[in-house]
Amino acid sequence: MSDKYYILTFGCQMNENDSEHIAGILTEKGYERTDNVREATVAVINTCSIRENADDKFFGNLGDLKGVKRENPNMILCVCGCMMQQQIFVDRIREKFPYVDIIFGTHNIADFGNLLDEFLESRKKIVRIMDSSPVIEGVPLRREYRHRAYVSITYGCDNFCTYCIVPYTRGREKSREADDIISEVKCLAEDGVKEIMLLGQNVNSYGKGLKEPCSFAELLRRVSEVEGLERIRFMTSHPRDFSDDIIDAMASSDKICKSVHLPFQAGSDRILKLMNRHYDRAYYLGLVKKLRERIPGITISTDIIVGFPTETEEDFEDTLDIVRECRFESAFTFIYSPREGTKAASMEGQIDHETCSRRFKKLVAALEEEIAEGVIVYQDSVQEVIVDGRSKSDENTLTGRTRSNKLVNFTGTASMGDTVNVKITKANTYYLYGEQI
Ligand code: SF4
Repeated sequence: MSDKYYILTFGCQMNENDSEHIAGILTEKGYERTDNVREATVAVINTCSIRENADDKFFGNLGDLKGVKRENPNMILCVCGCMMQQQIFVDRIREKFPYVDIIFGTHNIADFGNLLDEFLESRKKIVRIMDSSPVIEGVPLRREYRHRAYVSITYGCDNFCTYCIVPYTRGREKSREADDIISEVKCLAEDGVKEIMLLGQNVNSYGKGLKEPCSFAELLRRVSEVEGLERIRFMTSHPRDFSDDIIDAMASSDKICKSVHLPFQAGSDRILKLMNRHYDRAYYLGLVKKLRERIPGITISTDIIVGFPTETEEDFEDTLDIVRECRFESAFTFIYSPREGTKAASMEGQIDHETCSRRFKKLVAALEEEIAEGVIVYQDSVQEVIVDGRSKSDENTLTGRTRSNKLVNFTGTASMGDTVNVKITKANTYYLYGEQI
């Protein structure tokens, strides 16, 4: 029987994609996946440092693993991801969680196989963290799904939004050569992948420092030409870099899903400036208007932060105004959480927890109201859905996503990866119900 590996991933799609590479490396070494950490010979926790509650959850999980490690002292416990790019967390692990065997950073993933070999030979703890690395191609990968896949196109970020730790943990922005991306996408399509998600912290600025120049719009056009693909998505988009050319590329291809994730973060010009976002509310609203005019039926989702330092009631009302004006399909909402090492963490005027919670509740209520009105268009419509599998909460229900990325639970006979039509019988704020037809 093969040795098994277990991976726990926190955070964004970039981290999920990194975990797929870690899984690929372990699979090549002959390990098999398990969802039960007690069966694992190698356990990896891939951390996220974007919010405080992710830190807390991670340390909670790491504490729980103490017992597992006691029962199975041969289990190799590894910790990686964005938190490990911050010395403070590495020190804390070494001091309080001495049973962690390998610590490695976001730039050391391609080298994980060698780190494991080194540990197996020496049985001595390893801490390996680089500050940056060139783009490395050809790292093995084991995908979560057969029919859809992540394809990273950029790594890191140059934007330095004042609340965000990513430029410090993932380094400066680097793009993969377009030919390498296209080769990967072709292989995926040949392997039966129908839907790809192009990933980057800011995909719109793709193309910096390439040997063969290529813009994001050109890349989208080239990816659209790959045979076999049905859906192309991308995230995340920075509003400042969303060019007309990208809008044209989206409008001209049926394969590119007419849905876009476009974080606005705050509605007040003063706060946007303090956040270093490089656009104002008029620009954002103009972009949304243009997208809706040029791509009829487009759905837009967003990210919103409440309680950024110095945010007044008036600033917060500006955020609510954008919510009311933009008719978002969905939104990720966050209470601002200071990240040590960022500019905003040391700003004066941090907002107290009670005010943040009150504004957060108001924001969620406003969003839910808008989203509930918006989803009415789905009622009794027929939606094309790619099936992701069976619902975790009900074996008899299938689950999948529409082209607009809306979650649909439905009854039917389809299998994972099938593209089917579903009649929507009930449209809820966060998901739809339907019947396969
Ligand atoms: S664009 Fe801003 S929020 Fe997004 S990863 Fe870069 S710095 Fe962070």
